[in-house]
Amino acid sequence: MERIDCFPVPIFHDNLAWCFPTGPSSVAVVDPGDGLPVARALTARDLTVSHVLITHHHRDHSGGVEVLGRRWNPVLVGPANEDTPIPGMDLTLAGDCTFQAGGQLCQVMQVPGHTRGHVAYLVGNLLFAGDTLFSIGCGRVFEGSPEQMWASLCKLRSLPDSTELLCGHEYTLQNIAFALSLDPGNEALLAFRQECEARLRQAPTVLPSPLGREKLLNPFLRCDEPLVARLLGLEGAAPEKVFRMMRQEKDRF
Ligand code: ZN
Ligand code: FE
Repeated sequence: MERIDCFPVPIFHDNLAWCFPTGPSSVAVVDPGDGLPVARALTARDLTVSHVLITHHHRDHSGGVEVLGRRWNPVLVGPANEDTPIPGMDLTLAGDCTFQAGGQLCQVMQVPGHTRGHVAYLVGNLLFAGDTLFSIGCGRVFEGSPEQMWASLCKLRSLPDSTELLCGHEYTLQNIAFALSLDPGNEALLAFRQECEARLRQAPTVLPSPLGREKLLNPFLRCDEPLVARLLGLEGAAPEKVFRMMRQEKDRF
C-alpha cells in the first residue's frame, strides 16, 4: 500500500489536528479544534485546505471549522448522528461508507461511545480515531454506553496490525501510567514508556502508533483476555463488564 505522509498541528494543550495530502498542494485536516494555528502551519508550508474531516461534535475537535471555512472554503465532512449537530457540514456520514477527498479514498467507520455519532476515518493505512481510541487508552464514555464503546473498540481492533493509529489527543504517557497501575510488571509497557518520554522531549506527539502494538499493550483493547479480567478482579466476566470497570477506574485515576 502506498504510504501517505501526514503531519500533526498541535492545538490547545494536547489536541492534535492531523493533515494528509489530497492533492499536490492541498490537504485534508482532521479535527481542527482551533483554526488559527492550523491556518498558520499550513500557510508556512504553502498548503491549502481542500477538506475538513470531523470525528465528533466536541468543540476541541470542530471549533476551527469557521476560520478554515472563511479562509479556504473547504468541503466540510462530519458525523450525522450527533446529539449536538455540527453546523455548516457539506457531507454528513450516517453509516459506514466511503467518500473521495481529492486523491484519497476515505473509509468511514461508525464508532459510537464517546459521543453517539462519533466516526473514525481510514485513509490508506492511516486511522484517524478522534477520541475513541488513544495510544494505550481510549476516550471517556460521555454520550454512548460502555457496551457501544467496547463494540467500537473491537471494530477498530479488527483492522490490520500495520494500521497507523492517529488520535485526537496526545495522552500516551498518562495512559501508560494507568496501564501500569493495572499491570505494574509489564516489561513491554515499561520499555514503551521510556521510548515515549524520549520522543516527547523532541516532538509534540509519539503518534502514529501501529495498531499491532496497541493490540498487545492497550488494556482497553484487551478486555476479552482472561489475564486482563484477572488484573481487575473480574475472572470469568464478560468483556463488556471488564471494559466498564476499567473505564470507571480510569475516570477516577
Ligand atoms: Zn471529545
Ligand atoms: Fe477531545
